[in-house]
Amino acid sequence: MEHEAPLYDVLNYLPDGIVMVDERGVILFANDAFSEMVGLESTMLLGLNMLSLLADIDVFQACIEKVMREGKSLDAETNFIHRNGSIVQAVKSVRMIRHNDHVRFFVNVRNQTDLNRLNKELRSSKELIELQARELSSLLNSKNQELEEILSSIDEVIWYIDNQTLSLRYVNRAVEKVFGFSRENFLSDHTLWQQQIHVDDRNLVQIFFETLLPGQSQEIRFRILHNEGEIRWLNSRIYHHPTLNLFIGITSDITAPKAQGEEIAFLAYHDPLTLLPNRAKLKLQLESRFEHSAASPFALLFLDLDNFKNINDTMGHKIGDTILIEVSDRLRESVGKYDFCARFGGDEFVILLQDADTQSVDAMAQRLIHTFKEPFKVDQMDFFLSSSIGIVLYPYDASNVEDLIKHADTAMYEAKNKGKNQFVYYHASMQRAIHDYLHIESLIRDGLTHNLFKLYFQPLINTKTLQLEGYEALLRLPHPEQGFIAPDIFISVAESNGDILLIGKEVLSQACDFIDTIKALHDEPFFVAINVSSKQLHQEAFAKELLEYLNQRSISPTYLKVELTESAVMENIDIAGRQLRQLQAGGIRIALDDFGTGYSSFAYLAQLPIDTLKIDKSFILPLFESASNRHIVEAISNLAHVLGMKVTAEGVEESSHYDFLMENNIDTLQGFHLCRPLPKDQILQKLETKAPYFTPVSSFGYTI
Ligand code: C2E
Ligand code: CA
Ligand code: CA
Repeated sequence: MEHEAPLYDVLNYLPDGIVMVDERGVILFANDAFSEMVGLESTMLLGLNMLSLLADIDVFQACIEKVMREGKSLDAETNFIHRNGSIVQAVKSVRMIRHNDHVRFFVNVRNQTDLNRLNKELRSSKELIELQARELSSLLNSKNQELEEILSSIDEVIWYIDNQTLSLRYVNRAVEKVFGFSRENFLSDHTLWQQQIHVDDRNLVQIFFETLLPGQSQEIRFRILHNEGEIRWLNSRIYHHPTLNLFIGITSDITAPKAQGEEIAFLAYHDPLTLLPNRAKLKLQLESRFEHSAASPFALLFLDLDNFKNINDTMGHKIGDTILIEVSDRLRESVGKYDFCARFGGDEFVILLQDADTQSVDAMAQRLIHTFKEPFKVDQMDFFLSSSIGIVLYPYDASNVEDLIKHADTAMYEAKNKGKNQFVYYHASMQRAIHDYLHIESLIRDGLTHNLFKLYFQPLINTKTLQLEGYEALLRLPHPEQGFIAPDIFISVAESNGDILLIGKEVLSQACDFIDTIKALHDEPFFVAINVSSKQLHQEAFAKELLEYLNQRSISPTYLKVELTESAVMENIDIAGRQLRQLQAGGIRIALDDFGTGYSSFAYLAQLPIDTLKIDKSFILPLFESASNRHIVEAISNLAHVLGMKVTAEGVEESSHYDFLMENNIDTLQGFHLCRPLPKDQILQKLETKAPYFTPVSSFGYTI
């Protein structure tokens, strides 16, 4: 192969067929679109003579001869034969390239039989465009003459513009045919392309760029004025590059016979799949409401399908698309003709209601939820879907387009959090919750970058010896005004944004420092128990990395204990089981935290290498409030001992707790009654002065 594969890959993402043949017509390259058109794999096409695929060989030969004679690109209409025998009506342009003394013909084939081709192929192609963008920039940098030739031989206009100023930075030669200006005109007057946009479509284009977020790709159709005054319809697939600050686009001229003109105009403001109004139309609709009836209230409902991604991922896009069409039909029917329903994105829909009184909004939201009751039938399979809806009321909750959508989206997430298949009205406190969340998130970042996180250690006491067995490491995040932020708050934020993995590393490192210090002070065995979140546990390499780290620091695994909650283990019993067995094999002990609060299957747990059950403090604190708490504690203790596990009780706050637990066969105690969690230096102080750890037994002390 004389060409570099990755660069030719770009050609596979074009909706048009591209074929490169030599002077005899032998196919040297064919892209995916072409193989699809003729129904032959590209590997089967290589080496084949293109003439064998043509229904009208004469036309093509005449065309080739003319191109050779005149040395320029030529358009011709011809028919290909599909593998299944059907005739594919196609338009092609042929262009000759001389490269290293070889003559090559580039044939650009556009399937005319399939009018929906553009819609179909341009859809959901973010990754493709991203790849294309990457390839294109390397392609442009390489200044490779052959590649420039290829770019020029493509009928699609390929371009990119600055995402702020929208001024043109690159365009290929195809722009000349579409606009009737030279490529140089465009490159010297960076806003020429904007000036050529049809006045009626300028707003549409502007909104499009304003709402295309970094990393997203979308399609748009609009009209331009050709240099000779003629109106042309363009279809652009545009990607907002997140780091290069560019909009990158591929544009085709879809000006079609008059009859199709209306269809094209329709699709500029409608989603090609569901034929519902699209995001641009929604924005125009909202803006016109603000303008014309600024005072009249209305409701905006943001509807998101629950778990739709699962269907798409497991059943494929084709079934996903079919379901989306059915969803749209049902929504359209529920919403009726006086209200407005748009497809906002993938599986998101926005509904605008004229009446904003809660009664009618409630009724509509109910109706929409109900719409999903019946299963969706595709290929004789039943799919059960539901939806979550967030509701905002204009002008009470927001007064501009962005805030309306943003707040509706927030309320929709709240509906998901509450268990899906329901609607939730936006409330300002949600914004506050988000604000708080973001605030904590930034404190966590701050804590990580400036090493503010600090481990505290709470002693655990053996009930038989009254000696210290070990410590539980509990994390603290200092706060300038509030003293500390409770781990119950920051851990859940860190779990949801993934920062828990970095935090976990920090905890391990400080716990190991602590182990090193105590180890150096005396020879008695002890352990430090660290809390591990389910996110950490479900990292494939968790156990392996933990053991490696201890090894690297020359710390025996017997000094470390891992506390996991029941729910973390039950979340994925296979992965958790693998990790636990690996930890155990490495010599690390495992405690099951918060025991009694989850819904674990004891049959499963019994098979896992668990060393200790920690009875949750919610049973210990109200120990004397009801007899059942005491029975539960006794039962857990018996069960654990039958299975050869130890039992720890946490939350020992009162001497009455202490007495009860001492008498009921609990192995280890932890609680404020014995000792609060303390920073490392205070623990060291106690060790050095041999100060007792807890008051009830004054003789207790650490023997060094
Ligand atoms: P946990 O693992 O159940 O930790 C025990 C909690 O009970 C600690 O709260 C401890 O201070 C508290 N406690 C101990 N004795 C008593 C008592 O007598 N009475 C009462 N009322 N409470 C007592 P803390 O330190 O606020 O930690 C809360 C939770 O945060 C922990 O619950 C644990 O789930 C999580 N956490 C703390 N540190 C870490 C960490 O380093 N990593 C992870 N993943 N989670 C952590
Ligand atoms: Ca714990
Ligand atoms: Ca606990």
